[in-house]
Amino acid sequence: MSPLVSFVIPVLDERETLPLLAERLTAVMDRLEGDCEVVLVDDGSTDGSFEVMRELNAVDPRFRALRLSRNFGHQPAITAGIEHASGQALVIMDADLQDPPEVAIDLVAKWREGFDVVYAVRDERAGESRVKLTTARWFYRLLGRMSEVDIPVDAGDFRLVDRQVADAVIAMPEHHRYLRGMFAWIGYDQVGVHYQREARHAGKTKFSMRKMLTFAADGIVSFSTVPLRMAMTLGFVVSALSFAAVLYGIGSKVLGHVVPGWASVVVTIGLLGGVQLTVLGVIGEYLARVHDEVKRRPLYLLRDQVGDVRRGT
Ligand code: UDP
Ligand code: MG
Repeated sequence: MSPLVSFVIPVLDERETLPLLAERLTAVMDRLEGDCEVVLVDDGSTDGSFEVMRELNAVDPRFRALRLSRNFGHQPAITAGIEHASGQALVIMDADLQDPPEVAIDLVAKWREGFDVVYAVRDERAGESRVKLTTARWFYRLLGRMSEVDIPVDAGDFRLVDRQVADAVIAMPEHHRYLRGMFAWIGYDQVGVHYQREARHAGKTKFSMRKMLTFAADGIVSFSTVPLRMAMTLGFVVSALSFAAVLYGIGSKVLGHVVPGWASVVVTIGLLGGVQLTVLGVIGEYLARVHDEVKRRPLYLLRDQVGDVRRGT
């Protein structure tokens, strides 16, 4: 018999938070009517998080754990969890208690009403820097305008998905995963539930500036080709300007005002060079991802596991 709800939780160096997370999750599981499991995915922790997971499993076998062979990143870790969770509904959440486990009760209630994806919308975000909040807001508005699917704003990966939706995501083979976009693309009946995002329980964010920028680029490149079209528009505009400059050059030659004009030459070359490099960079972003996709490497490798983690479906 497959459990009712599986909690899928990626973990990178969260030793200090895991015991409290387990305590709050246990309380939530006891309140949910039905069998539950927790699939913790150790994404290459070096602080002994996996040993804590072993202890949790020894106390309560509903806690199961996977250990990846190294740090593959937040999205691949969630994917590993989804692929190994066997519940009829999956609740995806962070380990740092920014996503309060108690919200799962509301998510499950909506699922019981018949929704297939119940995403948690953050009303307030405690303990985040102003820069992160502002850039996040700009980014999601921008992505919203550029992409063809409606990706809910102010919602992260914290959500409940039905078995059917989880299977659909498992069947999507893409390497650069922007899960919140993929879930939006899948469709079915989706609804948001509001909640207050709390501050991290311990430690600090595992997302460096670089990881965040890569993640943002994945979001845009996976869900929009607008940058490629913008590159073309830019090319047209610059070509038109150059053409006008040619006409102006011929005109002034004919009319006899020959200007020494080295400055205009230098400016034009510089401008064209800059535009070409920018456009190449945009193409490169897409090409790099195509390159990664055609290699068809597995998304993650498993090294160890604790408890009865079955591959779902
Ligand atoms: N995480 C992970 N692999 C990573 C980065 C983060 O498994 O490469 C986990 C981390 O342990 C946490 C969740 O993903 O449970 C979200 O990360 P974090 O809280 O650092 O991100 P933030 O909330 O600051 O965006
Ligand atoms: Mg966090």
